[in-house]
Amino acid sequence: MDRPRGGLHYPRSTGEFQAWFGTDADCLDYLEWLRWPGGFVCERCGHSGGWRMSDGRLRCAGCDARTSVTAGTIFDRTRTPLTVWFTVCWMFAGRKDGVSALSVQRTLEIGSYQTAWAMLHRLRSVLVRPGRDRLAGTVEVDETYIGGEEPGLRGGRARGKKVLTGIAVEVRQPKGIGRCRMAVLADGSAASLHPFVTSCVEPGAKVITDAWMGYHGLAGLGYVHQRRSQRAARARGEDPGKLLPAVHRVASLAKRWLLSTHQGSVDEAHLQSYLDEFVFRFNRRRARSRGLVFYRLLQLAAGHDPVRYRNIVAGKRPRKIPPAPPAGRGHPPSLERPPAERPWRAADLGHAG
Ligand SMILES: [Zn+2]
Repeated sequence: MDRPRGGLHYPRSTGEFQAWFGTDADCLDYLEWLRWPGGFVCERCGHSGGWRMSDGRLRCAGCDARTSVTAGTIFDRTRTPLTVWFTVCWMFAGRKDGVSALSVQRTLEIGSYQTAWAMLHRLRSVLVRPGRDRLAGTVEVDETYIGGEEPGLRGGRARGKKVLTGIAVEVRQPKGIGRCRMAVLADGSAASLHPFVTSCVEPGAKVITDAWMGYHGLAGLGYVHQRRSQRAARARGEDPGKLLPAVHRVASLAKRWLLSTHQGSVDEAHLQSYLDEFVFRFNRRRARSRGLVFYRLLQLAAGHDPVRYRNIVAGKRPRKIPPAPPAGRGHPPSLERPPAERPWRAADLGHAG
């Protein structure tokens, strides 16, 4: 779907969201539609069309393979009802600054903090689409230390380790900021910085850095490299901290977000996934609707995981997936409401006719 439309393909408001996704079956149908907008296509043999079995799974008409709508997605074998998942997705995508695990746990009355925490981390894990476009045009690149505060064992806060993070930001002409990318770096050497630049900036782009030697050699990698010397800036009486204004703007927004939404309680091991969330939301800050961000999030969540896909092909997956009880211990009850109209299906009929 290149041009999804509000009110047809994604809900425009919280009211519309609630009206559409009243039952777990509605949520499942929406996922099925996102995954196979033109109808079921078998992942194993590529055949289109099949049957729905009594347990709700789909059976390929070509090779007899059976699959569920959620197989291979982050909702696979989840014990959390889809109505709860969708509500978390709506909060995650719809709020300007996202949500913390504590806020999700309290709002949805989820029994365990761990469950809420794990849900948000599963969402974060789908945000980086393989093969996504790299940054282009003019791109500032720098590295900075982020993080460094972890919750202590008994409520207090212990100083954690700050993590060196690479930041790349598109600079628009005559002014303004485009998209960004952020990645945790092993160190500030060329061996770490060069792969960071090549992974997130399109060759041919103009890359602006400071004079740090870790950036030497970028021209040889196909970039137009412009170096800004801190020493020269100081000599001119300028603030050397403002050498790369776009990068510093994004870095300070990311740091502020970690301290506000997450109260700084982000440990080193998970920093990358929080950065992925920040980048996802920052790059969609001008989306015409928060509902569109929700749609993109679910589209990513319903997309195939290539590693799991290989597992399916190799037949390593367990055959029987027992149906989960609706309300296991620590798992929230369904947020089911009266059935909806499913406007996304009506939109399809309109296209076909
Ligand atoms: Zn098949």
